[in-house]
Amino acid sequence: MNIGEKCVVAFHYKLTNGDGEELDSSGGQDPLKYLHGAGNIVPGLEKALAGKSAGDKLKVEVPPEEGYGRVNPQLVQKVPRSAFEGAPEIKPGMRFQAQGNEGQAQFITVKEISGDEITVDGNHPLAGQVLHFDVTIEDVREASEEELAHGHAH
Ligand code: ZN
Repeated sequence: MNIGEKCVVAFHYKLTNGDGEELDSSGGQDPLKYLHGAGNIVPGLEKALAGKSAGDKLKVEVPPEEGYGRVNPQLVQKVPRSAFEGAPEIKPGMRFQAQGNEGQAQFITVKEISGDEITVDGNHPLAGQVLHFDVTIEDVREASEEELAHGHAH
């Protein structure tokens, strides 16, 4: 079965950046499952998987525009420490869930702390990066009615 709309795909992957550093991998875990055509994975990878089938191995290079987007400098902001009231000790690298302009959940990363001023970054940690995926497709099957209704694989 070839990957297309209404397929559930299971695949193993290794994700590296342009320097060859491993960012993420499904190694040692179950393969990642997704519902094709539902935007469950980054668009560039979804596009590259279309038409492939179980057993296929492929290398996919995904530019930021088809990955996690470009870095938006407007998402880097300075906020007063009081904005973190009730939070434990704030350290660079910590991630928090905040509410975006349209009420959506958004993760922010603490970049820098200077006195009472904290610089936070609302960009995805992989924004601006070219993503290199090494993919092995394990399984392709038809999605169930329930999966289609939910918009994700079970
Ligand atoms: Zn569900």
